[in-house]
Amino acid sequence: NITVVEVQAWLDDFAKKIEDNKDYLSLLDTPIGDGDHGNNMSRGMTEYKKSIEDKQPNTISDTFKILAMALISKVGGASGPLYGTAFMNMTKATVGIDVISSYEELSKVIEQGQIGISTRGKADFGDKTMLDVWIPVVSSIKDENFNDEIIENAKNATKDLVAKKGRASYVGERAIGHIDPGATSSSYLFETLLNYI
Ligand code: ADP
Ligand code: MG
Ligand code: MG
Repeated sequence: NITVVEVQAWLDDFAKKIEDNKDYLSLLDTPIGDGDHGNNMSRGMTEYKKSIEDKQPNTISDTFKILAMALISKVGGASGPLYGTAFMNMTKATVGIDVISSYEELSKVIEQGQIGISTRGKADFGDKTMLDVWIPVVSSIKDENFNDEIIENAKNATKDLVAKKGRASYVGERAIGHIDPGATSSSYLFETLLNYI
């Protein structure tokens, strides 16, 4: 059962994972982007932690809203509005919900996040973006076989792709051989979620 307590613990774990891997995420963004993804995400999650302390939200929905606002206001870049839209959609999807108690319910919430990213960024599966992790994660939650391996494989599968969206698309074939930074930060989001399932 996932209540507001588990959601906040999950997002704390995610913030820690981002902090611990900040340099690595920016390193991944260097050959195929502008080398700032770790710093961007870290700025956003630091703001989230500050804001959550100040506002002490009591619901899942309000918690996602604080995260969305923090990411939209502090991350900048492509990833800020994309993650921000995902969590804003998850805010709407959890209004009035005190507990997420089935895979089906969880999949609907995460799927709304994924739809937000897809709508805003107009990328498809296989375009070497964070969606390459979100899309298989939604399917695997629906199929009740959500696990570490699915997340890891989805992230690693971005390595051999040419990017169709975002800065990595500017380097063409040279993106091949590099894991996508946004897919990697999304893999952290879902790995940490596994702790609460
Ligand atoms: P920027 O590229 O503006 O510096 P970041 O480095 O923070 O922003 O984020 C880059 C990540 O954003 C990429 O690794 C990719 O996963 C994701 N991304 C970029 N464009 C899109 C898009 N149109 N749809 C989904 N994800 C995208
Ligand atoms: Mg970047
Ligand atoms: Mg940038």
